[in-house]
Amino acid sequence: MNKTTLHHVTAALGLALLACACWVMAGALSDRMVQQEMTATVRAERQMAASIVDNMAQIIASDLAMSRAIPATLAQMDLMQHALLASRHYASKAPTSETERRNEWMSRPELVKVNSFLHDAQGFSGLDSVWLVNDQGLCVASSNANDETSFIGFDMSGRGYVARALLGGFIEMYGVGRLSGEPGIFIAAPVYDDDGFLVGAVIAKVSIDRLRHWVSRAGTFVTDENGVVVMAHDGRLEYEAMPNAPVTKMTVQERVDHYRREAFPDLRVARIGEQIRATEKWLPTAVADTFYAANGSATPALYDERTGLNSGLSAHIVHPLTSWPDLTRNHSRDRILVFLTMLGIVALATVIATSYSRERRLHRATRDLAEQLQAANTLLSAEARHDALTGALSRRYFLDTLRHEVELARAAGTPLSVAIADLDHFKQINDRFGHASGDRALEHFVEVCRAQLRPSDAIGRLGGEEFGLLLPQTALADAQAVLERLRKRFHHEHCAHLPEDAVLSVSIGITELAEGDATEWILSRADLALYEAKSRGRDRSEVRPADSMPSARRAENSLTGM
Ligand code: GH3
Ligand code: MG
Ligand code: MG
Repeated sequence: MNKTTLHHVTAALGLALLACACWVMAGALSDRMVQQEMTATVRAERQMAASIVDNMAQIIASDLAMSRAIPATLAQMDLMQHALLASRHYASKAPTSETERRNEWMSRPELVKVNSFLHDAQGFSGLDSVWLVNDQGLCVASSNANDETSFIGFDMSGRGYVARALLGGFIEMYGVGRLSGEPGIFIAAPVYDDDGFLVGAVIAKVSIDRLRHWVSRAGTFVTDENGVVVMAHDGRLEYEAMPNAPVTKMTVQERVDHYRREAFPDLRVARIGEQIRATEKWLPTAVADTFYAANGSATPALYDERTGLNSGLSAHIVHPLTSWPDLTRNHSRDRILVFLTMLGIVALATVIATSYSRERRLHRATRDLAEQLQAANTLLSAEARHDALTGALSRRYFLDTLRHEVELARAAGTPLSVAIADLDHFKQINDRFGHASGDRALEHFVEVCRAQLRPSDAIGRLGGEEFGLLLPQTALADAQAVLERLRKRFHHEHCAHLPEDAVLSVSIGITELAEGDATEWILSRADLALYEAKSRGRDRSEVRPADSMPSARRAENSLTGM
């Protein structure tokens, strides 16, 4: 794998990791969002469910209070008491068969009166049936006396509510009519005679159908004291039983007596928090714990109940969380949205970071380039100032230095000596020992100059084997002394890089700065002095004082009459 591929793979891995991190963070964020939404929704729905069951409980209480009032009032009536007292007399020697009893009692004038009264009372009170039973539980009068199916003469003592009323209890309970098979609330009130002896009971029945408005809201149902669903908005739930309800502990006979049936399937209302949390992990446990499922519905529901109402009834609601599918759908959508937003931010940050680093790289490159350029310039200017071979000043820089020193000397009024040195018979050196040796000789001359002159003196290569020497603050005589010493030194000091028999010498022309001098004139005088040194046999120095004008100056002066 080459470096670029490795780089690409690392970048791709980094991006994938970043995307994973974004996805995880988006999950956490969307979890939080949906948790808050769900908690708020569940709170609102719980309040709604609670208010529905509260309302149910109120309606049940007020309906039953109304229904209870009628038998209780009837039980107080003299008409009922007298009829029962009279019936006691003949009932004790009553014929044994129900039909005989019925035929006889239907003809008793005091009972005919009661039958008619009960018929009217039932009609006005919204009850389904009203019966009068004697202290043995035999039905002596009925609101539907004229019906073939009326209970007159019938032994009702086997009904729980009758038995309990005959013991002096005031009873309200759910039950199923033995003959009609119709369920209803049975209300029983004991009847006492004037001496306070129990003589019978008034029994009334309100059919469940009349009370259906109790479960008008979806999800509501009512159970009786045995935990049996006696009424439900969803009719399929009726005769199902709450889990572990008392009805499950009753004997088969008791169940049949009471409900006309043996089996009571379990009502399937169960907590499903655990199951839901298995797939929806974001769901807070506290919220999940309030989730129920009714009859295997996939949508979670809330459950609430009000127990211990009149007649042992309880009101229940299984309230489906209708917003559940939307909320879970939103959860996935929110996660994707948050993820995309995060990716966008990361992409933007990456672009900004990349361009920033690119900018910095560019800036650094530009700075490096500028530094290199400056270094090159410095080198160039250093090269321009110095002769590459000998390290002496270049011709041009030497002349600049000369001009500068002239100005300084003039300003300070100090002397300035200038000389031109030319190596003797240099052509022959080259010819005899080679050009490279000639170069060594030139270097050697500059080394000798440096050793003999002060650091403030300047040495410049004017061209070939010709050098300019600049001695600031040095009068002509002093300069000649110094340069004579230099000349001798050069002659006697053997150059290590040249053959033994190579003898070097130099001729030097010296002059000094004069008042009103021009740099060319100074150089020209030094040149003349050099010429004299050459022509007088070489390996010597000659002096041209300031007053010995160059020919051009003399010509100029003669013109002006000086
Ligand atoms: P004179 O004593 O009259 O000055 O004689 P000369 O031979 O020194 O003078 P000429 O002007 O005839 O010769 C100068 C020679 O210096 C010619 C040239 O080849 C040589 N020369 C010039 N520059 C260099 C250089 O950089 N290196 C070498 N080795 N020789 C150079
Ligand atoms: Mg020469
Ligand atoms: Mg020369």
